Amino acid sequence: MIPIKTFVSERRAANLLAQVRWRNGVYCPRCRAESVIRYGSYRVFQRYLCKNCDRTFNDQTGTVFEHSKVALRKWFFAVYAYIRFNTSLRQLDVEIDVSYKTIYRRVQRFLRALDAPRPQLEGPVEIDELYVKAGLKGRERDRPSRSRGLSTRGRGSYDQDKPPVFLLADRGSGDRYVLPAKAADESTIRLLLADRKKESLTVYTDGFRAYDPLDEDDEFDREYVVHGDGEYVDGDVHVNTCESHGSLARSWLSPHRGVSKDKLTPYLRAFQLRRRVYRKPGKEALKAILETAL
Ligand SMILES: [Zn+2]
Repeated sequence: MIPIKTFVSERRAANLLAQVRWRNGVYCPRCRAESVIRYGSYRVFQRYLCKNCDRTFNDQTGTVFEHSKVALRKWFFAVYAYIRFNTSLRQLDVEIDVSYKTIYRRVQRFLRALDAPRPQLEGPVEIDELYVKAGLKGRERDRPSRSRGLSTRGRGSYDQDKPPVFLLADRGSGDRYVLPAKAADESTIRLLLADRKKESLTVYTDGFRAYDPLDEDDEFDREYVVHGDGEYVDGDVHVNTCESHGSLARSWLSPHRGVSKDKLTPYLRAFQLRRRVYRKPGKEALKAILETAL
């Protein structure tokens, strides 16, 4: 159930903020000292005095939600609806009656605070890429409008406004990763596969040449299917998990048509976060979403 009460009461929203933010105890955001005392309030937020640096702060200080005239409950609703239901920012602008620009900036700020995924690969690992049509939104007003939407499969590059997005499916851990890159080349691929639990890693790919160097490397046991030859599955060897995860990633991006290529990373981190909270009930999901950014 949607945690609706939190979205109508500013006090509840403030309580949740404090609960999530200080989950490991209150500390001073400026000097990180834990010797703090309660010191009145600021609007609905608890205020504190740091006995170490003698400065005050409140529950909101230093978070992605500070310095905003918009009620916290509205921001909570915005990030919840965005992560949970993939609501477009245009729609949110109508729902919470805050201008698109303000929502865009705050959601970007929230997304930038999300942790980067850190793969610890167990293997076998499927790796594949997709290419998203993403240019430099909002900086091309003088030109005729570009065709929007996401492209079909093909090899592209960041410079051509078709940045590669790598998909990793670790069959050992069950984890999936969606990682935008500047290029689909050997060094990028090596970097993506660098963090692993064992010395050698079994890797399943398609026939794309950029994966060929893995064949000559003792650290990898690479097996592949050649899609061009109509071969999609050879026993365990396939990249179907990546393919289906890739199509989910594409549909995640589609309400945000024309995502700028320099914003792909935050948008895809949001996709990653959505998967993590997918099975949680509303209140827990909201908490988990906030925890990643606070
Ligand atoms: Zn301090």
